[in-house]
Amino acid sequence: RAKSAGGNRFEVADPEADARAITRHGLTTALPTALENGEFFIEYQPLVHLGDGSVRGAEALVRWLHPQHGVLGPDRFIPLAEHTGLIVPLGRWVLEQSVRQAKEWRERNGGNGAGRAADPLRINVNLSPCQLTHPGLVQDTVEILERAGVAPDALCLEVTESALIGADDDLLKPLRRLAEMGVDIALDDFGTGYSNLANLRRLPVSVLKLDRSFTQGMQQFPADPVDLKIVEGIVSLAHSLKLTVTVEGVETGAQAEQLRLLGCDTAQGWYYARPGPPERLHELTLVDATG
Ligand code: C2E
Ligand code: MG
Ligand code: MG
Ligand code: MG
Repeated sequence: RAKSAGGNRFEVADPEADARAITRHGLTTALPTALENGEFFIEYQPLVHLGDGSVRGAEALVRWLHPQHGVLGPDRFIPLAEHTGLIVPLGRWVLEQSVRQAKEWRERNGGNGAGRAADPLRINVNLSPCQLTHPGLVQDTVEILERAGVAPDALCLEVTESALIGADDDLLKPLRRLAEMGVDIALDDFGTGYSNLANLRRLPVSVLKLDRSFTQGMQQFPADPVDLKIVEGIVSLAHSLKLTVTVEGVETGAQAEQLRLLGCDTAQGWYYARPGPPERLHELTLVDATG
């Protein structure tokens, strides 16, 4: 129902937009206590080596078990957490939980003992731009790793390409510090941010996570020759800069095979496993070890 309010002003009532605004408002008010109430939990999605199919690590993906709305994905509440500042304590909580989880996996994997995995499992954790500008980032990360007894090279922090576009030295400084300590920095959702490829040189990143949109282009076998060329070009550029290439959103064997042939190093997606509870990773590494 549109009503005119004099002159040229029109106001359109949109019940759906209203409902969204109400939900958003409700979530925003519930957010500050959600952390204290233990309503967040983390699912882990394995990262698989394309060459030999072994599980190399996992990405931590946060979820909110809301008392009324059930399980909410990060897209529903991360923007709100960023807006309200809760992202800093929430991000710290995710990092701490994930690093402790990595410790447990590594102990189970038995390093030199049982010696099942070629390399000890690693953990990927997403960082929001707000965490990047927070002065406690480096200190918090060091403390979390030390408390858990986990080496910095077990950790990979994922930062989106768009968060680093046009980043000045002040923004890159904490990332450089972490990289010097041995923490890997991954450029997440790469290829969506229109960044200058030459810009990659000045970023302290060691991993390129190719966005799911590229993987979607590999659904046909063989894929569109232009799509193949683009990915081939990105992979060769990344490798010449000594970056590892991870692909996200692999849903089929055809995609996995084409991305492997294009030289991508690691893959993540439903074809291997959906994000799940940490126990799932025990099963997966076990299968890999015996298979
Ligand atoms: P992301 O870091 O790019 O994570 C990958 C997303 O793709 C995840 O969505 C994952 O569940 C989904 N995915 C994985 N494999 C497939 C596949 O084969 N097909 C499809 N269609 N999707 C797949 P999710 O869990 O909803 O997370 C969305 C985004 O939320 C993440 O994107 C990340 O940017 C953000 N996020 C998640 N956890 C955290 C966190 O702890 N802190 C921050 N700051 N952001 C987080
Ligand atoms: Mg990510
Ligand atoms: Mg991603
Ligand atoms: Mg993504």
